Amino acid sequence: MTFPDARRRLLGGELTCESIVRERLDLIRSKKSLNAFLDVYADEASARAREIDGRVRAGTAGPLAGMVIALKDILCVKDHRVTCGSRILGDFISPYDATVVRRLVDADAVIIGKTNMDEFAMGSSNENSAFGPVLNPADPARVPGGSSGGSAAAVAAGLAMTALGTDTGGSIRQPASLCGVVGLKPTYGRVSRYGLVAFASSFDQIGPIGSTVEETASVLSVIAGHDPCDSTSSDSPVPDYAGSLGGDVSGMRIGIPKEYFPPGLDPEVRGAVMKAVDVLREGGATITEISLPHSEYMIATYYILSTAEASSNLARYDGARYGRRAEDPADLQDLYLRSRSEGFGAEVKRRIMLGTYVLSSGYYDAYYLKGQKVRRLIREDFDRAFAGTDCLITPTTPTTAFAFGEKIDDPLTMYLSDIFTVSANLAGIPGISVPFGRDGKNLPIGVQVLGKHFDEATLFRVASHIEKQQPKNE
Ligand code: GLN
Repeated sequence: MTFPDARRRLLGGELTCESIVRERLDLIRSKKSLNAFLDVYADEASARAREIDGRVRAGTAGPLAGMVIALKDILCVKDHRVTCGSRILGDFISPYDATVVRRLVDADAVIIGKTNMDEFAMGSSNENSAFGPVLNPADPARVPGGSSGGSAAAVAAGLAMTALGTDTGGSIRQPASLCGVVGLKPTYGRVSRYGLVAFASSFDQIGPIGSTVEETASVLSVIAGHDPCDSTSSDSPVPDYAGSLGGDVSGMRIGIPKEYFPPGLDPEVRGAVMKAVDVLREGGATITEISLPHSEYMIATYYILSTAEASSNLARYDGARYGRRAEDPADLQDLYLRSRSEGFGAEVKRRIMLGTYVLSSGYYDAYYLKGQKVRRLIREDFDRAFAGTDCLITPTTPTTAFAFGEKIDDPLTMYLSDIFTVSANLAGIPGISVPFGRDGKNLPIGVQVLGKHFDEATLFRVASHIEKQQPKNE
């Protein structure tokens, strides 16, 4: 049952919010082996649902009444623990709500719990979680993607209608693609980051995952908008994204960046994306091949700049201020050293070392500063592309879901899972992944639509057109 159905039946008196929540709680219990949740707010969610039922009867229910949503465990909910998939936060309890949480609650969504993730959102497979990996509901021998793998798997398995994830280099779109659901990374600044634990602050964005484009659009309308607590949040007006869906694509100018179709691309992924392009052409869109010439530097630039920001952001976990603290430290240095050595996992340590290196005296100019300059060139590639197009179509990921263990010992291969998604974060533009067909192993394939700053409406429109024309071979 999707959110619009649930809402219609709730407002029509056919269902109660309490029964909608109960059904999801039962499913969460029966699908515990997916390991999608780190915390389930069973009692609180049921109590909230009863309150919302009261408001439905009084005719005062909010725009998200009937929605059951899960949150990636990197978002703060007052009086609940936030783990970030790490041991270093220990039993740290959030003293306040993230802005997105406040907005969801005010709109009458029910928060059902917190989802599993790669530690500090670093990873593409969920194998970096300190709490064990999440299984892909499409094939439990395969990864759900990362880092918002718990959120994508929860939606794919129906444990929640929608979920919030975060995307620094692809962490909403890549797991959405691998699990067969819709995931949107909004424009940088579209959604407040207040109460989101920082990984790389100039890249991080919160965004929705849903089983349909319409669901993600409904969530974005509620969470988007200016927030005085986040100076990088934009005050550009927030449209009614779901209300404006349904327009056609005729007359739209769609670009196909040739660098996103390299020779090594999985032929089934390429085939599906080209089929989606045909669907758009048949819908009346004009398709042109374009070039984003600095694409070959995307991965290097992303891993230099994001690790630099991470090394600085993660300096706060010193054993003194948050959560985990080494026992009987000999002195302050020993407290720092042992708390961090024991608390962080291998990938997070690798990133802190890499980021510290590129920022250190003697290497700063060669790596960090150069990375910033290349970031600008990548952004300018997109500005040029969007001068003649309304949006771009690419694959979301180079392959469908891979097996556990396949890439975890080779960080560089793992990093290449993000080859088509990091550019949106480098340029600050929005991107959506929409499922389109399956490969020969019956694994979902995702198509990515990239758009202009603050033009999420176009992404929803194009994605919803693709969504409605699923290939028949399933
Ligand atoms: N997989 C990418 C990384 O490991 C992206 C992570 C993210 O978007 N949070 O950095």
